[in-house]
Amino acid sequence: MKIITKKQVLLNALTPYKVSAKKIGFVPTMGALHKGHVSLVSQALTTNDCVVVSIFVNPTQFDNALDLKKYPKTLDKDVALLSTLEGIIIIYHPQASELYNGKIRSKSYNFGPIANEMEGKFRTGHFNGVGTVVNLLLRDIKPDTAYFGQKDFQQLQIVKKLVAIENLPVQIVGCPIVREENGLAMSSRNKRLSKKQVDEAALIHQTLLLVKNDFPQSSIPKLNSKVEEIFKKSKVLTLEYFEIADEASLKTAKRKQKETKYRAFIAAFIGPVRLIDNMALN
Ligand code: AMP
Repeated sequence: MKIITKKQVLLNALTPYKVSAKKIGFVPTMGALHKGHVSLVSQALTTNDCVVVSIFVNPTQFDNALDLKKYPKTLDKDVALLSTLEGIIIIYHPQASELYNGKIRSKSYNFGPIANEMEGKFRTGHFNGVGTVVNLLLRDIKPDTAYFGQKDFQQLQIVKKLVAIENLPVQIVGCPIVREENGLAMSSRNKRLSKKQVDEAALIHQTLLLVKNDFPQSSIPKLNSKVEEIFKKSKVLTLEYFEIADEASLKTAKRKQKETKYRAFIAAFIGPVRLIDNMALN
C-alpha cells in the first residue's frame, strides 16, 4: 500500500488508472480510523480499481481549537487497519500547506438553508471548511465516485450541494452508520472516551431508537420535550441540540406532513467530547 504525502506524487500514481479509464474511488477521512471508515473503503473497493483514502485533519473545519488539538492521530494503526483490506488502496496524507497550496483558509460558500441548520448553526464556519477541503481533494484526485457516511448526514447533503455548485464530475455515495455493540455511532472522537463514558454515551442511540419507536403515534413537540427530559436526567451527557427535520431540506419540523421523510438528529457533549448521531424515522 502506498502512503503519499505530495500532491504531484499522488497525481503520478493515479495517471495509469486515468489513462486506462479505470475507476477511482475516494474516501476522505480525518484518520483515527475505525470500522465506520472501513465500511466506506470496503464499499469503494467493490466497484473501483483503486481507492484513495485521504487522512487529513482539516484545520479550517474546526471552530474549537482544543477539539482540533485533541483530535486523535493514529497513522500507524490506520495504515495497519487498511492493510487488512483486499484491493488497491492509496493513502494520501498531505501537510495542510501542500493540500491548500499554501493558503490555509476557507472559501465562502452559499450552500443555502441546509447550511444554517444544526451543525451549521452550532459550528461557525464548519461547512465552509468542509466544502473547501472536499473541493480541493476532489479537484486533485478526480475520482469517479466519493463515499461519505450518513453518520454526518448534514455533511453528506452539503457535499452533494458542493458538487453541484463547483460542477464536479463525481458521483457521491452515502453509506450507512456503523455502530459499536451498544449502539453508539463509531467516531474517531470515541477514542477520547473512557470505557464508562462509552457505556454512558449509548444514551444517544437509545434516545434515537425511542424517538423512532414513538414517532408514528407521538407529535413532534411531545418528542422534543421527551428528549429534553431524558438528557436533563443524565448526569454525564449534555444535549446541544435535538431536532426532527425534513430529511431533504433539513428544516426543523414542527408538525408531521404526509409524504415527507423525517430524520432525528442529536449533538451532545460528554465531558469535552462532542458526539453527533442521527436516525431515519419513517
Ligand atoms: P471523519 O474521519 O470523521 O471525518 O469521517 C470520514 C468519513 O467517514 C465521513 O464521511 C464520515 O461520515 C464517515 N464516518 C465516520 N464515522 C462513521 C460511522 N460510524 N459509520 C459510517 N460512516 C462513518
